[in-house]
Amino acid sequence: MKQDLKSMTLAEMQEAFAALGEPKFRAKQVFTWLHRGATCFDEMTNLSKALREKLEENYEILPVVMLERQISQIDGTNKFLFRLYDGNVVESVLMKYKHGNSICVSTQVGCRMGCKFCASTIGGRIRDLSSGEILAQIMVAQRYLGERISNVVLMGSGEPLDNFDNVIKFLKLVNAEYGLNIGQRHITLSTCGIVPKIIELADLNLSITLAISLHAFSDEKRRVIMPIANKYTIAEILDACKYYMNKTGRRITYEYSLVSGVNDSKEDARSLSKLLKDMNGHVNLIPVNEIKENTLKRPSKKTIEDFEGILKAHGIEATVRREMGSDINAACGQLRRSYLETQK
Ligand code: SAH
Repeated sequence: MKQDLKSMTLAEMQEAFAALGEPKFRAKQVFTWLHRGATCFDEMTNLSKALREKLEENYEILPVVMLERQISQIDGTNKFLFRLYDGNVVESVLMKYKHGNSICVSTQVGCRMGCKFCASTIGGRIRDLSSGEILAQIMVAQRYLGERISNVVLMGSGEPLDNFDNVIKFLKLVNAEYGLNIGQRHITLSTCGIVPKIIELADLNLSITLAISLHAFSDEKRRVIMPIANKYTIAEILDACKYYMNKTGRRITYEYSLVSGVNDSKEDARSLSKLLKDMNGHVNLIPVNEIKENTLKRPSKKTIEDFEGILKAHGIEATVRREMGSDINAACGQLRRSYLETQK
């Protein structure tokens, strides 16, 4: 298969264009077109026809096509379903905040981590997304939205650290001056806790925010809902987090999806406070999004407030994630799943 231009950095493109006997500035032109969302060479009107044909022969612009767009009547949240070149589909969620537009993108088609509450993992992992495919979700969404997207969270389908190289390259591409130019401080990467990869990420010394999907205060409890807990302990994860903080100077976010009767008791809150007391982190409480494939339920409003209150009383910074787009298929992986069901 020909190389996808969307997965190439400007420097790589310049090198490739030099090999084709083209001047450097041509690469910048093509890079700019692509990152503004051009989907074919014919759109690149400042290139000669001969050059467009030469590019077409040597390179590919793999399609990432919007199949479906749902817009929440409640808060303007957009949910996008994209079709990839091989017919696979992935979803992204665009959230409108006062501080700007934030997009949640997928990093894999499906996921192999097996977390009990998550819809993305139900059919396993189909394949990794390329860096260009991760990037294109933002470019296409931005084009339809007609507004700048300023924040990115890698919290869609997939485990970003299970697709490490492509995700790191994506971070480079999304940051590019002639591209989307989204700074590392505006990017959050969420992981279920693949310890060696957290260390590897720390060693790259980036200034992205790391979010850890913790969801339980003990390994025993965590193993019930997250298979990855059989591989790495919470102690190992927190050590890796300390290493990440020391290397990057960035505080860490701990995600905690509250599931009724599973991890939402006052005792859970107190034990979680103890666990995190020296971590100087931020806890993001997520009332579980109920999906029809399992029976997990979200706690009552009172239980959620009590949980948050206990953390705060112990000096742990905590917020409950505001529910967005509740009138559309907003939970991780749900839009893709309902699409796949209609295709059966
Ligand atoms: N694989 C990565 C990122 C994807 S999910 C990770 O595990 O962090 C982003 C966050 O949403 C994770 O904290 C994940 O555990 C959580 N999540 C997934 N499905 C959920 C659901 N149905 N309800 C609440 N949180 C969910």
